[in-house]
Amino acid sequence: MSSVNTAIQLITREQAENGAARGSTCSPALAKGPWDYDLAEALAGVPAYGPGASSADVAPAATPRQGQLPEEYKRATDAELARRITAAKATLGDRAVILGHFYQRDEVIQYADFVGDSFQLANAALTKPEAEAIIFCGVHFMAETADILSTPEQAVILPNLAAGCSMADMADADSVAECWEQLEEIFGTGPDAEGRRPVIPVTYMNSSAALKAFCGENGGIVCTSSNAKTVLEWAFERGQRVLFFPDQHLGRNTAKALGVPLEQMPMWNPRKDLGGNSAQQLLDSRVILWHGFCSVHKRFSVAQIEQARAEHPGVQVIVHPECPMEVVDAADSAGSTDFIKKAIAAATEPTTFAIGTEINMVNRLAAEYPQHTIFCLDPVICPCSTMYRIHPGYLAWVLEELVAGRVVNRITVGDAVQANARTALERMLAARP
Ligand code: SF4
Repeated sequence: MSSVNTAIQLITREQAENGAARGSTCSPALAKGPWDYDLAEALAGVPAYGPGASSADVAPAATPRQGQLPEEYKRATDAELARRITAAKATLGDRAVILGHFYQRDEVIQYADFVGDSFQLANAALTKPEAEAIIFCGVHFMAETADILSTPEQAVILPNLAAGCSMADMADADSVAECWEQLEEIFGTGPDAEGRRPVIPVTYMNSSAALKAFCGENGGIVCTSSNAKTVLEWAFERGQRVLFFPDQHLGRNTAKALGVPLEQMPMWNPRKDLGGNSAQQLLDSRVILWHGFCSVHKRFSVAQIEQARAEHPGVQVIVHPECPMEVVDAADSAGSTDFIKKAIAAATEPTTFAIGTEINMVNRLAAEYPQHTIFCLDPVICPCSTMYRIHPGYLAWVLEELVAGRVVNRITVGDAVQANARTALERMLAARP
């Protein structure tokens, strides 16, 4: 099976040679190195997420940039990078641990000591206290979480600083604080007769450390896509309503499954006064949904599911809860990356699965379970833009810098933010169904 990177290169070459393609990509720029895009972006003076699913999303001005990568890493062939990464990893031994997210490309995943979702990876790093460096081949908020959970002596490194997350960036600390102020004006701050606060803030793991800290400070909690239902139940025991950010879809899908009516889930648009709602709508609410989304999971549609069912009778459709509600409703089941993996592993008979999540993970599952037919619901190859920015060239660079005794691209979360964010994470770990 060819990797997504190889498939993109083949399609792009075929397009150039024949003017026609067997398949298509969401952006031909995917075949370029991320440094080409960084340079074009720097020259234009506009921060962006790069080619891929998030390419149309607006990146905030404060989005971190990656300084230019030394030329030798850009010019190196795939074989040379492989040789240099392998050699540096061998030299570092237990001093470095490499973590790879499920959505990361195979060219990088092949060097990972652990592969998993963001929280699994942060926890995996805890099993390696001897590692001085944790190289997180994921995105920025994941590296922050690893820094919060690791020891102060461990350096968490993000190989390309421009690997952010467009969804996480849709809720920034200032906008959430402003929203909170407006909600306090409407709801007040005192508890009701049953001791429940007016509103409990809940942030998805896919958010900045600053927002996790905001939740820790304000009686709130963090959730993952695996435990969102338990966390919402925890919040409803303690509050009259929930402010859920940044992913509206995970919030809506989870609250709907708990029986919250859609009319009690207003959306908060940070660019509008009262988020675009009346005070009464907010008073009547049970869950206030932040106007955020993942551009990878937003691509999945009911039409794709109908097509999969027409072409593959008996197909099992499993989607991630970051997908829109109609897609989750039309699927056979919905759950986190871990849920999807376990559902496929549990199938005892050869089965056809249509999966609604990022293409790299789907392709890896297809290779791991050849007895099943596994394909991505989205026929267009369109990986997570920001994850795609971690190219083997950046991995080789950070590893060789470590060998030379230099730590580059370290992600650090300040002490006060760490303490409050840890409070919110600990509440999540203690929450029980
Ligand atoms: S897949 Fe979506 S939520 Fe995950 S890192 Fe990419 S943009 Fe963010």
